Amino acid sequence: MAFHHGSLEVATTKSQEMVDITKRVRAELKTSGIQNGILTVFAPHTTGAITINENTDPDVQTDILNALERAVPQGAKYYKHEEGNAHAHAKAAVVGFSESIPVQGGKLLLGTWQAIYFCEFDGPRNRKLTVTVVG
Ligand code: ZN
Repeated sequence: MAFHHGSLEVATTKSQEMVDITKRVRAELKTSGIQNGILTVFAPHTTGAITINENTDPDVQTDILNALERAVPQGAKYYKHEEGNAHAHAKAAVVGFSESIPVQGGKLLLGTWQAIYFCEFDGPRNRKLTVTVVG
């Protein structure tokens, strides 16, 4: 069994944003040399998350961030967490901290309209993601 473990650094620039990391993940897959297997992107953070969604219309990212904001608004008075970023923890918990993507013939089997996003909910920050490929 082949195994590759790499990392990606993402410097976010906004308090909340979705950063398309697909090209960088593909580059990490190429570095791994693994042709067939599974790739996992993992965010070892509590206020940032990983998701897969539409890669064409940026309004989709805005709609996702707005939907999360409506569900878990910043600055609401009912949070108990004293750091002031309870909304970011809750949003990250909802989105999740990893995605796994099948790899075939050295390529990610993403759908035509899919991209991989790092979701920042408490930025800007420097984030470090883990990319693991097993084949
Ligand atoms: Zn916190």
